Amino acid sequence: MHDAEPVYDIVIAGGGMIGSSLALALAPLGLRIAVVEAVARRDSQQPSFDDRSTALSRSTQRMFEAMGLWDEVKAASAPIKHIHVSDKGRFGFSHLDAAEQGVAALGYVVINRVLGEVLQSHLDRTDTVDQFCPARINALSLGPDQAVATMAIDGRERRLKCKLLVAADGANSSVRDMMGISVQKRSYNQRAVVGNLRTERPLDHRAYERFTPQGPLAILPIAGERAGFIWTVAARDAERVLGLNDDDFIAEIQAEFGLRLGKFSRVGRRAGYPLVLSKAVRLSATRSVLIGNAAHGLHPVSAQGLNLGMRDVAALCDCILDQRKADSNADEFDPGTEAVLRRYAQWRRADQKKLLRFTDGLVHLFGSTRPGVRTLRNIGMIGFDLIPGVRGLFAKHTMGLAGELPRLSRGVPIR
Ligand SMILES: Cc1cc2nc3c(=O)[nH]c(=O)nc-3n(C[C@H](O)[C@H](O)[C@H](O)COP(=O)(O)OP(=O)(O)OC[C@H]3O[C@@H](n4cnc5c(N)ncnc54)[C@H](O)[C@@H]3O)c2cc1C
Repeated sequence: MHDAEPVYDIVIAGGGMIGSSLALALAPLGLRIAVVEAVARRDSQQPSFDDRSTALSRSTQRMFEAMGLWDEVKAASAPIKHIHVSDKGRFGFSHLDAAEQGVAALGYVVINRVLGEVLQSHLDRTDTVDQFCPARINALSLGPDQAVATMAIDGRERRLKCKLLVAADGANSSVRDMMGISVQKRSYNQRAVVGNLRTERPLDHRAYERFTPQGPLAILPIAGERAGFIWTVAARDAERVLGLNDDDFIAEIQAEFGLRLGKFSRVGRRAGYPLVLSKAVRLSATRSVLIGNAAHGLHPVSAQGLNLGMRDVAALCDCILDQRKADSNADEFDPGTEAVLRRYAQWRRADQKKLLRFTDGLVHLFGSTRPGVRTLRNIGMIGFDLIPGVRGLFAKHTMGLAGELPRLSRGVPIR
């Protein structure tokens, strides 16, 4: 049975970190927006707002500033003022420093669940955004004048009509399939084991990235006395590592990281995430676009997946706003025209390609144990530290400040 069919300007499929951020970013435009999210935010199975810690880049920080959320996000975050990169079994290391780059912090680390609470409390106060949750989009019809999404909610089916359908339903996006867009995927045969622990010495706002033959291990400062870790292990070893008792787990992760932060203790709950590189072959279909992990999936080595998705959000907002400014009749504004979708897809493709290549390259360069590659890697690390400008360029990419930046990524509000 179908209920009455409300008509929206934009329906966002997936209210995770990226879908919720898009709804809030567009809110000042007064468009009628619906967010359809399959899993309630406080549900222990919520896939986006879980216990992972995420490093927010400077461009994401600027976006939250422009959206009026930053004070709350910052209060729950830990700044990264220094990034220390090392290679297990080698003495050399490289670093990035906030002061050297002329910024207060290179990024901020926030727990996804906490970020979710900030986004949710703002969404709840935004009366132009309707939230349907838990509700799952399970069918889609795309026509020249409108898109119609069918969602399952409270054991019934309801249809939502809109001018633009945005798929923000994550890496295994079923909405992307419904749009007829295929995806190229390659498994890294690795899993990220994620959790937090205590370190004997304080991190002092430092983030550590240590490359080991198994894969990278990141130790991140988080608010409070603890440190977050993202430890990449071979897929075949993941179940064993996840099954270790606390003492054995600490012994193994300590052996990988060394004693730079003294002894580790009091490790928390661990969770594993399979690591897959993915890229949608197209970013748009009739009256619909892909953003966030529905469009691209990265290895977490460079902590850029969410940040890249946030730049999708910023660029889509610019494309919609510019089209609205160009339209003579604002009352009949249509955010889902071919011109908007084409511009968005062209703009985002280059940034996404570059970052996919960069992270994939890092995984292979630092994952290799071949002697020639190891020598190259050491030369690379020396060059990185000594060649003027190289570090600055790298920092610009890490902070998400390279290339043509949309308004929100520059800290300019959308209105
Ligand atoms: C271990 C690890 C560490 C990471 N660290 C970082 C980091 O430090 N920095 C960084 O920038 N990125 C990081 N990332 C990447 C980041 O987590 C992702 O890029 C980000 O979660 C993508 O958000 P999203 O909203 O696009 O997708 P998701 O977080 O997957 O959210 C998708 C949402 O859509 C909902 N959904 C799915 N199907 C439907 C449907 N049919 N109908 C309605 N709703 C649906 C889901 O319930 C979910 O809430 C990390 C990733 C991993 C695995």
